[in-house]
Amino acid sequence: MKKLLKFNEYLRNLYGCKVFKVSIDANFTCPNRDGTKSKLGCIYCDPYGSSSRVHKKNTPIKEQLLKNIEFRKTRYKAKKFIAYFQSFSNTYASLDKLKLLYDEAIYSHIDIVGLSISTRSDCIDEEKVKLIASYRKFLPFVSIELGLQSMHDKTLSLINRKETLKDFIKAYELIKKYNLHLCVHVILGLPGETKEDMLKTASFLAKLKIDGIKLHLLIALKNTVLEKMYLEGKFKPLTYDEYVDISKSFISKLDNNCIIHKLAGSGYPKDILAPRWIYEKKLQVIEDINC
Ligand code: SF4
Repeated sequence: MKKLLKFNEYLRNLYGCKVFKVSIDANFTCPNRDGTKSKLGCIYCDPYGSSSRVHKKNTPIKEQLLKNIEFRKTRYKAKKFIAYFQSFSNTYASLDKLKLLYDEAIYSHIDIVGLSISTRSDCIDEEKVKLIASYRKFLPFVSIELGLQSMHDKTLSLINRKETLKDFIKAYELIKKYNLHLCVHVILGLPGETKEDMLKTASFLAKLKIDGIKLHLLIALKNTVLEKMYLEGKFKPLTYDEYVDISKSFISKLDNNCIIHKLAGSGYPKDILAPRWIYEKKLQVIEDINC
């Protein structure tokens, strides 16, 4: 497989030590959940909006970070940390509120040396990007993670994404204008997509020279629209071999400087309905894609 730099290697080169991301659930919502665009959410989104579910709802940010940091220091001998706003759409609030939350995170612990913010393209504007870029004065690594999932509007409509490729391009241009690290999330195995369709998304991202990629497998989680589709026989998950094959081809199309943040994103283990192999063979699938 084409060898692209892994995110942990990139961080080690940047900081000279082991650096871990620590997830935050800052109690955001999403325009595709709160009724602004829809109340249903994307077909694969569960009511937790990609939360790691490590903490109880409404746990203060500082408390979440301190617990996570303590755990990783003890268990993995981690030295430095990136505060990662993970759940729902983490730019979906006023500028003042965002600044308060981001400040709380980065000042929670002396070993927090980076900031990552995951969001939707339609929740980004220039003021928000400027605010996020301003943290580079204190932190060597600041990134925005955007969920694209697919470059095909037909697919985005099928999965009830409620945003388009045009939204993504607009957000991409703003993020690049401020020279922020941009990591893009893509889901493999979306309904109606052939391998060729997925590889077109890869070629499109290669042309944009994005900084990083997270590849996810489409999974039917409990309490999602996709669960119902799966039970009704309307969704057939990728097999293990298909996922490995498509992931390898996808990566081979990316720009040589693109960093691999993740290769087999899944979901909360107990809620995975199908395919179960992603839970049972998580490490093996990453190894097989890497070989
Ligand atoms: S954009 Fe994210 S949080 Fe919003 S509905 Fe889709 S998956 Fe859920």
